[in-house]
Amino acid sequence: MNNLLGRARQSALGLLGYLTLAAVTPTFAATDDLPAMELQRFGEHVYVVQGQAGQASSANAGFISNAGAVATGEGLVVFDTLGTPALGAKFRKLIEEASGEKVKVVVVSHYHADHFYGIQSFMGPGIEVIAHPMAKNVFNDANTKARLEQRRNDLFPWVNEDTKLVLAARQAKVSASQNESFKLGRYTFTLIDGLGAHAPDDLMMRVDELGLVFAGDLFFTGRVPFVGNAHPGLWLKALNRMAETPPKVAVPGHGKISTAPEKDLELTRRYLDHLWKVMTEAVANLQSFDEAYASADWSSFKKLPAFDAANRLNAYGAFLHAEREALAKEKTQ
Ligand SMILES: [Zn+2]
Repeated sequence: MNNLLGRARQSALGLLGYLTLAAVTPTFAATDDLPAMELQRFGEHVYVVQGQAGQASSANAGFISNAGAVATGEGLVVFDTLGTPALGAKFRKLIEEASGEKVKVVVVSHYHADHFYGIQSFMGPGIEVIAHPMAKNVFNDANTKARLEQRRNDLFPWVNEDTKLVLAARQAKVSASQNESFKLGRYTFTLIDGLGAHAPDDLMMRVDELGLVFAGDLFFTGRVPFVGNAHPGLWLKALNRMAETPPKVAVPGHGKISTAPEKDLELTRRYLDHLWKVMTEAVANLQSFDEAYASADWSSFKKLPAFDAANRLNAYGAFLHAEREALAKEKTQ
């Protein structure tokens, strides 16, 4: 490794992460070259792995998202399959060994590359894969195909010609007004429509008896969320759907697991609410985006992690949504 590459890698992982990785997993790298994957446990039957911070790259082998599994006594219910077939296979091995159970059901949070490219490692007889009814549209979208080509470059050899994307065989019976519940072994699982707030096919999953929610990319812990193209208004509605039964633990699609979901939800809500209010007002007052951004009061969020990286982009996305809605309204009047 030359010095420049070494430095880039150090900063990508963070110095501490790099040292830890090097210090505790010397033999591991020799076996499969993947970053360390530690199984976190919540209570007796829930397993979660947490991806590294940052974008997918060859340095982190695409391990940037979280995935979880629940041992029901009659098989594992898995939520998300990680960002490459190799990561998926590793995750599956870990949970099957730790629980002594086989995978029975796989739920896909949404068809974004970092959450489902491990799916081919979960195919097999007796395994049911479930996704949101809109997943089919997203799966067949030109963007999804273009993303695969991009990932084959960026994450080679982890994503290559042998990487197969698989559409879930079963659609969740969810809508804006309806959840789906199914029982397996000792637990009841409730699938909740994410209302297309982050992606058209967002799906959340609650384990009713445990008060635990797998929230996909709709939940952020202690930081400014990445909103991007998502609609802040719909996102708030989706969070309300999730909080109808207040969760005790929330597993986000990225970053730390929340053991204080009420508090973390409050922050995300307050942020989305502010973002949406400021940008709709700006559009109503015919302000330009730059004017609106400069005159808005961001003081309550400025000190939060990810503010600098995400806020301006989030505000711009919200501004575009607000503009689109104002134009649509004008047309119907
Ligand atoms: Zn996503």
